[in-house]
Amino acid sequence: MADSVSPKTIMLEVVTPYEIFFEGRIEKIVLPAQDGQLGVMPGHSPLVVAVTPGIASIETKGEQKKFVVSEGFAEIAHQAVIIVCNAAEWSEEIDENRAKSALERAEAKLHDPVNNDEQKLYARHAMRRAKARLKLAAESSKDKKKRFME
Ligand code: ATP
Repeated sequence: MADSVSPKTIMLEVVTPYEIFFEGRIEKIVLPAQDGQLGVMPGHSPLVVAVTPGIASIETKGEQKKFVVSEGFAEIAHQAVIIVCNAAEWSEEIDENRAKSALERAEAKLHDPVNNDEQKLYARHAMRRAKARLKLAAESSKDKKKRFME
């Protein structure tokens, strides 16, 4: 039987402990993997990668949309990508003040000599999450300003 689904798209699922963050067909995803940003299009070789806190972007019907992902894993197949991560947020969901406070707390922990290596590692992860949230929030407010000026 012919497959009615376009071979030019990939099924993407982004799952967190809180929700199914995204489920749908997209044309491309660029995700923050441990070795750098990884672009995935239909037909990509099967792969499992560690996802690190950062910005992921998806493209569908010529439109791009970005979201922040936290620590996790991505399973990539020819026509599907499944991301299981600790948290994910669209730019409009990001609370900048919360991310700023999280960054300050994590920086303080990292520099406090009473904290051991494990606590400092957690602090580094928290810093990456907060920085990714702040970066996407800043990018999206810049985009909004640009659209307003046009
Ligand atoms: P915090 O210390 O502020 O909780 P965190 O990095 O430890 O930050 P996470 O454990 O990554 O938080 O996320 C817990 C939940 O809170 C998730 O649902 C995540 O999407 C949400 N979340 C965390 N920080 C923010 C933020 N700045 N804006 C919006 N949602 C956030």
